[in-house]
Amino acid sequence: ASVMERVLQRRSLRLRNLQRAWQESPEGTKMLNFRKSLPAYKEKDMLLSAIACNQVVVISGETGCGKTTQLPQYILESEIESGRGAFCNIICTQPRRISAMSVAERVSAERGEDLGESVGYKVRLEGMKGKNTHLLFCTSGILLRRLLSDRNLNGVTHVFVDEIHERGMNEDFLLIVLKDLLPRRRDLRLILMSATLNAELFSGFFNGAPTIHIPGFTYPVRAQFLEDILEITGYKLTSVNQIDNYGQEKLWKTQRQLLPRKRKNQINTLVEDALSKSSFERYSSRTRDSLASWSPDCIGFNLIEAVLCHICRKERSGAVLVFMTGWDDISCLKDQLKAHPLLGDPNRVLVLTCHGSMATSEQKLIFEKPPPNIRKIVLATNMAEASITINDIVFVVDCGKAKETTYDALNNTPCLLPSWISQASARQRRGRAGRVQPGECYHLYPRCVYDAFAEYQLPELLRTPLNSLCLQIKSLQLDSIGEFLSAALQPPEPLAVQNAIDFLKVIGALDEKENLTNLGQYLSMLPVDPKLGKMLIMGAVFRCLDPILTIVSGLSVRDPFLLPQDKKDLAGSAKSRFSAKDYSDHMALVRAYEGWKDADREGSAYEYCWRNFLSSQALQAIHSLRKQFNFILKDAGLIDADPGINNSLSHNQPLVRAIICSGLFPGISSVVHREKSMSFKTMEDGQVLLYANSVNSRYQTIPYPWLVFGEKVKVNTVFIRDSTGVSDSILILFGGILTHGASAGHLKMLDGFIDFFMNPSLAECYWNLKFELDKLIQK
Ligand code: ADP
Ligand code: MG
Repeated sequence: ASVMERVLQRRSLRLRNLQRAWQESPEGTKMLNFRKSLPAYKEKDMLLSAIACNQVVVISGETGCGKTTQLPQYILESEIESGRGAFCNIICTQPRRISAMSVAERVSAERGEDLGESVGYKVRLEGMKGKNTHLLFCTSGILLRRLLSDRNLNGVTHVFVDEIHERGMNEDFLLIVLKDLLPRRRDLRLILMSATLNAELFSGFFNGAPTIHIPGFTYPVRAQFLEDILEITGYKLTSVNQIDNYGQEKLWKTQRQLLPRKRKNQINTLVEDALSKSSFERYSSRTRDSLASWSPDCIGFNLIEAVLCHICRKERSGAVLVFMTGWDDISCLKDQLKAHPLLGDPNRVLVLTCHGSMATSEQKLIFEKPPPNIRKIVLATNMAEASITINDIVFVVDCGKAKETTYDALNNTPCLLPSWISQASARQRRGRAGRVQPGECYHLYPRCVYDAFAEYQLPELLRTPLNSLCLQIKSLQLDSIGEFLSAALQPPEPLAVQNAIDFLKVIGALDEKENLTNLGQYLSMLPVDPKLGKMLIMGAVFRCLDPILTIVSGLSVRDPFLLPQDKKDLAGSAKSRFSAKDYSDHMALVRAYEGWKDADREGSAYEYCWRNFLSSQALQAIHSLRKQFNFILKDAGLIDADPGINNSLSHNQPLVRAIICSGLFPGISSVVHREKSMSFKTMEDGQVLLYANSVNSRYQTIPYPWLVFGEKVKVNTVFIRDSTGVSDSILILFGGILTHGASAGHLKMLDGFIDFFMNPSLAECYWNLKFELDKLIQK
């Protein structure tokens, strides 16, 4: 045997000794007994032999039955036990970074090891993985990225793709690539795992791969809908109507008769209409959202509060899981509950949160048993629907909505709205209450609304812009983008694909023949949206990295500028203090971040955030992202080791503005001044509005003819988010035209334009270009 072979054999023996020692230890035995109690254990041998005999296996089972934590571990254990542990290399993908991290930690603990030994994780910009790691949990994005440089996944023995029922874009993408890879890697094993039972769809995609269902046991959960809840909480349907003064009773009654026959959209508006008028006055004196809380964008905090009160007062013991739409709602509700005499009493109630950006310490708390006589309430996003299992949940409160991006290919505009979930999601949420004993689920919507829900959610591939995805497809050197995507489980519309290709051409990532340019090659290496990647590269080339790092980090995390419902105006003016005469939300962010760092040095970061309506969590996140982006740029050889050189032009404000423009183009709107008013227009949408929180919405006039923006969202009209004013010359020089199909040589050439730019009169030679552009945009 070769030297390598012998090294691996020796390592395998060591792994086996370690594993046996743990399994025979008292703690290890206890853990093993717990693991044996999970439904997956009964099927262990059958699963192992199915995986050994088939290249692809589809496995489904109730959430919590042990798919994620057990199945990959069974493979690892059996390989180690057979003395071949060091030869196996298992990858298990997760749709979200937080589940990849928490699952890896859990499996390490089950094996009595520290994270990063035989089990590790890797998520964007972070990881914990050693040379002895044989089971790696990673996000599906990470595996895709790996496929870029390692098309055959050399050395990998097993790939698990988890949570495929969610139909995330990356998972759908992975399935196409892996299907293509399988014939080239006959020894590779692919295991697909899914919570609900639409396994046939996936099995069909893989030419009838065998499907195995793990029968799980859950206790029955009683479903209660709005009608029942109003009764339980003391609000009868009639009492809803008594509260309001607007003759809603009639509307409500007619609705109840009409609803089942109406189309879904109409049902939504009708119900929301009715609910928006029912203000639940008992609580409304204190709450800011008594009416707003039932608007289509929000859920009814007061009703949730009433249900929680009812559970704490009248119901048996057991933890409560509340499904909400997003982090904003969760933190608002948490604040509201703090002021409540019962729910805010830390001696009786423990309120925890569970969402994508929570800290690891908080993450652990949600799995722990609360102290005796204290009721645990977990406010969660739909992350807790399937990827995370909290065992002691007995009560579930389901607001019926989830934030979902949809994509309007016709207008090429993403929309982010809380929308009704699917019936499958509602059932899944309900099921979370029956893990340890019979449970209760409170659905905060009428039964007829549930009946109108779609059966399953639309796959993400069909409801998001495909820019990043198409860039990745190109860098995988997979012929034609359109052809590739037509092999998907459910292929996206050709128009959506064309929009993405056009976009990549405009920003210079693809040339006219759809070939990847040098710029495109760099962009596909950076784990950010292509727009932001381009801004980073330009910031590096033009030596003004520092502010650009802040801006790009800010655009890829939550907005640190808070906008509390009841203090919109104060918050807005706090933000505009950071803007001075910049006419730029992006510059305001840079100043706010710089100020925060100064305040932090003086130990007054907390007051600083409070005073300026800033989220210190978001600023922290920006702070650490900045470092990571800096590292990636260094790694890609795009910046100098000397920060002084990279920042020699950071204080050149017009230049920073130009780089913002180069990244955000073609997100551009014209500023139209007419007498005393000001309006904004984009080429595709006509009139658009600025977000209330934008500094540019507070000026009477803007001395720039254009605003560049990173994101527009269609709510009812099209809104543009953060924006920065730019001049004609900036737009011409940096708005995509020169950088079209930019190669490394081009970028170097742009370097020379710094001088050019410092002397704007030189820009005159571009006036004719401007003329063309004007014509285009004013059309
Ligand atoms: P599935 O993937 O089938 O939904 P998991 O493998 O995630 O199930 O979880 C199986 C079981 O392991 C859960 O029901 C729970 O009892 C336990 N478990 C999972 N994660 C943790 C954790 N972090 N802490 C304690 N127990 C956990
Ligand atoms: Mg799972």
